[in-house]
Amino acid sequence: MTNLKPLEPHDIISSGIKPTGVLHYGNYFGAIRQYINLQDTAEAFYFIVDYHALTTLPTPDTLRVDTFRMALDWMALGLDPDKASLFVQSDVPEVTELAWIFSNLLPAGDLERGVSFKDAKQRGDTPNAGLLNYPVLQAADILIYRGSVVPVGKDQTQNIEIAKRIANRFNRRFTSDKPYFHPPRPWVIEEVAVVPGLDGQKMSKSYNNTIAIFEEPEVLRKKVMAIPTASTPLSEPMDPDSDHVFSLIRLVGDEETVSSIRDSYLRGGFGFRRAKEELINLLESYFSDARERRDELVAKPNVVRDAMVAGAERARVRAQETMRDVRELTGLNWKDAAR
Ligand code: ADP
Repeated sequence: MTNLKPLEPHDIISSGIKPTGVLHYGNYFGAIRQYINLQDTAEAFYFIVDYHALTTLPTPDTLRVDTFRMALDWMALGLDPDKASLFVQSDVPEVTELAWIFSNLLPAGDLERGVSFKDAKQRGDTPNAGLLNYPVLQAADILIYRGSVVPVGKDQTQNIEIAKRIANRFNRRFTSDKPYFHPPRPWVIEEVAVVPGLDGQKMSKSYNNTIAIFEEPEVLRKKVMAIPTASTPLSEPMDPDSDHVFSLIRLVGDEETVSSIRDSYLRGGFGFRRAKEELINLLESYFSDARERRDELVAKPNVVRDAMVAGAERARVRAQETMRDVRELTGLNWKDAAR
């Protein structure tokens, strides 16, 4: 762990992932592995952000299926509903009310400078207002559970900065003595802040360079074999530090394995084909336990459903408490004037 301010007793963990497509290694190392580590040390809220997924206009069937599949994958990977509240964002609809209140605390220009909105415009798309407002809903996601620590990959730090700005503005405007919200901070692990994809760029669904966590073996093999490599002759030493295959090996291999493969690269006579075979073996074994758990859960979908429903009930109690306070602080409690 690098450069992270240790957790404080008041810290609450809160983070979400969009149910669009399937989970990939970037999501696991950048976010989910931290979710799992943190669920043992603090109160945690982890949610599947289906309202956010609407910005990409999925079909209703796709949204339903992807949301449930993500819940299943989370539990297979080790997110534990007895330790953290696991739920689906839209099961706590109060979050949209908070987002509306927050949207008045931020100049529209700050949102126009948001990364996702700017990227979409640069690609020549006409982004919808949902994508523009995305960071405000994200601030509400975090703060409605009084979250102060947000495990994410580096790409998300700008959005957490906006959430921090909103929390500070809310405190300044609506509280006089004790601030109401703890300004949240990102929890980014430097070594995996940007997990590389098959082409060496950041692994992302949008770049089509991902390896899914539960990839089918034939697809996995095909993807790995197609990773571009240098044209070093077989007998010569290969450079591990500029090689995409090696950067993935480093991600999933234990220290001893990585160091022995590194030596093979430097010695020469090894070849990228063997490196790729090593990578395939490592990838297959890394998630083999999770794969077994996943098969069990597929056979018992009610276990996943019940855990997510219970998680939402717990989260909703917290959200309703926050909204009672927020309504009072902002003046959305007119009946108190009629006493
Ligand atoms: P994608 O970029 O594939 O659409 P998401 O935006 O759904 O992924 O990301 C969900 C979580 O996974 C976020 O916390 C994000 O920061 C993290 N994440 C995604 N890709 C990476 C990556 N390549 N490296 C590190 N973290 C990542």
